[in-house]
Amino acid sequence: MEIPPSYRNGCLIDLYGSTVDERMKYSLKKSRLTGVYSLFFCIFAKHIKNWIPMDKILVIGCAGQIGSELTLELRNIYGANNVVASDIREADKDIMESGPFEMLNVLEVQKVAEVCRKYNISQIYHLAAVLSGNAEKQPLPSWDINMKGLLDILELAREMKLARMFWPSSIAVFGPSTPVKDTPQQCVMDPNTVYGISKLAGERWVAYYNKRYGVDTRGVRYPGLISYKTEAGGGTTDYAVEIYYEAIKKGSYTCFLKEKTYLPMMFMPDAIKATIQLMQTDADKLTCKDSYNIGGMSFCPDDVYKAIKKHIPDFTIEYEPDFRQAIAESWPQSINDDISKRDWNLSYVYDLDKMTEVMLSEIRKKFQKA
Ligand code: NAD
Repeated sequence: MEIPPSYRNGCLIDLYGSTVDERMKYSLKKSRLTGVYSLFFCIFAKHIKNWIPMDKILVIGCAGQIGSELTLELRNIYGANNVVASDIREADKDIMESGPFEMLNVLEVQKVAEVCRKYNISQIYHLAAVLSGNAEKQPLPSWDINMKGLLDILELAREMKLARMFWPSSIAVFGPSTPVKDTPQQCVMDPNTVYGISKLAGERWVAYYNKRYGVDTRGVRYPGLISYKTEAGGGTTDYAVEIYYEAIKKGSYTCFLKEKTYLPMMFMPDAIKATIQLMQTDADKLTCKDSYNIGGMSFCPDDVYKAIKKHIPDFTIEYEPDFRQAIAESWPQSINDDISKRDWNLSYVYDLDKMTEVMLSEIRKKFQKA
């Protein structure tokens, strides 16, 4: 069985989360028994470094909503120089300045391969995509980026024998015939958006490459993701990010979905934690070879409005549904993620009220700094 070592800031950590240096200092101060354990850990750590190579990770699409937070967390765990960030555009300053960055278009796979060779990459997190709202505006070019991009990277992972790959799917794989509440892992899936079709086809390709060539790609069906750090990237659930910004900036918000449109949603810290947890799980525990359901919370615009009003009593909202209402209505309202909880211990920290508190306070800080 494979035992992945754990790291903090690129240093191996022991059962109690201490690095070698911390353990050394501790062992000098504590009892004889702790000292013996500490000494063994230090000797083990010194040698393990020589025969377990540190993972080298390439993040494609690092400048986006997920990439901008995931890249920093990966650098924190694996060491800044072991995580190469890439995108077709420059990322935030904290990514550009904290480790290597390469300008890469996922559709130019030879250049991606060169970067993999240059840094001896063993894992890819492939996040580059055109999201649901934007993909409807340009269906065929979006299909190219979402589908050809994935197929090229799968092929590259096969040829280069990469250890592991992450490719996210979405709740957009579900469609109007899918059960809307507590949507199970396996059910009818008839997506009717170009984004959803590309995600469902992508899931089948991922499973195919796994079965036929042993390419270990892992994925989750992210629900709508909410974060304060980066603007949302043109998805149908973006209202749940915009509403917090507008509440602070203007005290009012015009929502592009109807007030009782329930959708599954998740706060970014929970999504990042889940992603890394899935990637660090032993392959033999994972029963789902395409993409795992992850649910988070389920709420509607009216729920967010009421949660914000607890902090900003004068906040007002209006509803002007646009083309994204039809997309939202074709998606589930809540997701059953029992299989993820069973296979890799998925868990969440945030509910709507906890998330609202953090969103409002962090966005306020952002505006004060600006
Ligand atoms: P995003 O749009 O914020 O970021 C995508 C990034 O990919 C951008 O920085 C963009 O510059 C980059 N990109 C686009 N085309 C590229 C190309 N040809 N080559 C290289 N980079 C390119 O998206 P996100 O929200 O960070 O989503 C990341 C992944 O997660 C996507 O696969 C998306 O489908 C999936 N997902 C996101 C959500 C969500 O709510 N954010 C929900 C479900 C699934």
